[in-house]
Amino acid sequence: MTVELICVGTELLLGNIVNTNAAFLSEQCAMLGLSMYYQSVVGDNPGRLRGLLEAAKERSDIIILSGGLGPTQDDLTKETAALVMGKMLVEDSRAREEIERFMSKRGREITENNWKQAMVPKGCKVLYNPNGTAPGMIMEEGGTYMILLPGPPNELVPMFQEQVYPYLHSLQPEVICSKMVKLCGIGESSAETQILDLIESQQNPTVAPYAKTGEVHLRITAKAESEAAAYALIEPVEEELHKRFGSLIYTDDPKVTLEMAIGELLAKRQLTVTTAESCTGGLLAGRLVNVPGISEHFKEGHITYSNEAKERILGVSHSTLEQYGAVSPQTAEEMAKGGAKAAGADICVAVTGIAGPDGGTEDKPVGLVYISCCCMGKVLTQKNLYTGGRGKIREYSVASALTLLRQAILELF
Ligand code: ATP
Repeated sequence: MTVELICVGTELLLGNIVNTNAAFLSEQCAMLGLSMYYQSVVGDNPGRLRGLLEAAKERSDIIILSGGLGPTQDDLTKETAALVMGKMLVEDSRAREEIERFMSKRGREITENNWKQAMVPKGCKVLYNPNGTAPGMIMEEGGTYMILLPGPPNELVPMFQEQVYPYLHSLQPEVICSKMVKLCGIGESSAETQILDLIESQQNPTVAPYAKTGEVHLRITAKAESEAAAYALIEPVEEELHKRFGSLIYTDDPKVTLEMAIGELLAKRQLTVTTAESCTGGLLAGRLVNVPGISEHFKEGHITYSNEAKERILGVSHSTLEQYGAVSPQTAEEMAKGGAKAAGADICVAVTGIAGPDGGTEDKPVGLVYISCCCMGKVLTQKNLYTGGRGKIREYSVASALTLLRQAILELF
């Protein structure tokens, strides 16, 4: 089946907001195995929306709309969509009750135009919205499906995941299943080179690499008559990827992040970790704190931006800083050793580098970052040279620091 996406909102056309709904919905439709050939953005203008919907109805099986379901005069998505599908609007009593409940729970006064949101196209499937007042809707007419979703992402995303995804899934005669194999410590081109034969010979399942900051994700997707049959097709490819990449793979679970995988390793080996950060200024500690339950293994972190702080808090020697500078393997090593001692932790990861845009020299250019990991007295140190702006350099540094931390735990414990 083919799917088409229409995002409604003048704010989108003016560039006031980023169209994150389009990115989310496109990815979800790809996961469902639906082919998307068209995407459009249209302002809050019923005439232009109507023209677009009529064209979409001619060329696509499923049309997904986001936005314009609000209570105000310029929210006309529902009225226009119902007109194009030849449906009249009727009041849905449950939608009315839910609007009443939503508003009174928040102590908000209901205005007359709120009731407009309880009107739905006759015979449609109503998608109730626990996160807002606008219900979503699915209409069907002559084999064309039109799906209307509220604009705010905190309403659209759960509504899609909980109600629309299973609905679309049931429309497809075949199921599409995928697994995400996530790697760290390898670049995208190198990962791709190692699986070029799998990518080139693929039909079902397919393997597609995605580059993330400091990580590579490989999605294996299979189409079959049942979920079990699809996963049976995925399994040998997954095994092959494990054979080729070994410990560079940190998870096969799409929901698991690198820091979560590290959290699991720390828990399994009963280890504590601390951080000693210069140019990343707390970003590394922030990634670790993303993991629920990390407090058992991460008690404190240090942000030592100045040389004085590196000496006072981490015990980096004055002569090391004088002789080699703050951005040097020697300083990184002393930061890691001193950080572990100061926190009484089993492991310390230290980061020191030049995030730019100023401060680079010929010997030590912007993007030069040393990362050191001290585990029970043994130290691993890595030199990195990143390109990009200050933000990107800091993000890459954190990804490398997490990767080195994981490598150190695997190698040294
Ligand atoms: P409401 O019921 O809140 O009025 P709505 O369905 O009418 O929602 P809009 O009025 O079009 O939706 O948008 C409401 C808000 O949702 C926007 O101000 C914006 O913050 C967010 N939003 C809308 N469309 C998108 C989009 N495509 N991507 C990301 N955010 C969006």
